[in-house]
Amino acid sequence: MATGACGINCSVCRLNLLGVCGSCGSGRSVEGARKKADMERILGAPCPILACAIEREVEYCPRDCGEFPCSRFKESLYPYSEGYLAMQERRRKQPPKSRSPLGELLKVPEEYWEEISAADPQEICSRTLISLSSQGEFLLPFLDTFILMDLRERKISLQFGGGWRPLQHPLVELLALVYLLHAKDQPVTKRLIGVQELKTSHFFTGPHELKLKPIVERFGNDLNGFRVASERLGGESVALADAAYMFRLFPRIPIYYLLWQGDEEFRPEAKVLFDKSIEHHFAADAIWGSVNLISDLLLMGKGVEVLWGDG
Ligand code: SF4
Ligand code: SF4
Repeated sequence: MATGACGINCSVCRLNLLGVCGSCGSGRSVEGARKKADMERILGAPCPILACAIEREVEYCPRDCGEFPCSRFKESLYPYSEGYLAMQERRRKQPPKSRSPLGELLKVPEEYWEEISAADPQEICSRTLISLSSQGEFLLPFLDTFILMDLRERKISLQFGGGWRPLQHPLVELLALVYLLHAKDQPVTKRLIGVQELKTSHFFTGPHELKLKPIVERFGNDLNGFRVASERLGGESVALADAAYMFRLFPRIPIYYLLWQGDEEFRPEAKVLFDKSIEHHFAADAIWGSVNLISDLLLMGKGVEVLWGDG
């Protein structure tokens, strides 16, 4: 595929068809290495973007490099304009919008907060393995941090850098409320099952398929990138597949991501495994939302802080 490391697709360019401009290639391709050598021979220096991508073993800058758009793009404004780079920079700081399985923007029902406010806090804590803060707010472990749930204000905050910052992220808020309302006093079994073994497996087809294709596209040839993104999210490495991590979304909800790297014979593959107990706590839509959330956080590659959407 004649796409340059910068993301420009040479195969849809007339200059390429006419043979006046040769194909580029990714930072990990033979074509990319050949183009770099040609430029050095003919022009005396390679394209700095291609040279950097090759050195860092980055396939495509816009998809695979956490620094995109870096100074090499901004200083030369080649091949992208200032406006395009500014748009990329702005939108990369925003987490994807929280959506329901029907594709609608997610709204958190007020009744969930009301139901929790009317319940016995001690019963919720012992059933869900969470605790109460000194102010009587629920303190819910979430990935490698904590969510503080303020029942009076009906707001959540996330612990970050030794303090708390208010968080407006409907999917996180909804999952936290559902967990407090529905998690059962059932221990983690450590018996792992795939989506096909869930009682509600029929749910996870078509538009409700688990969000794994983008994980394969991004990390299928970049195990190290997968490890870095997983560890930034507090994932715990497990000895499965070529690389695998367990993400403890909430105390009773461990979710496992497994990745197999591609080679000449096999395509890369990603799989999610759940603890067999998950269906005691979460219905299919909450399981689907949990995987969406973790996949988005992995793709953004910067840990939970991207949930604030201000970089
Ligand atoms: S800008 Fe660089 S990486 Fe992009 S197509 Fe041109 S030579 Fe290749
Ligand atoms: S720093 Fe990243 S985005 Fe910039 S040229 Fe190198 S690989 Fe591409």
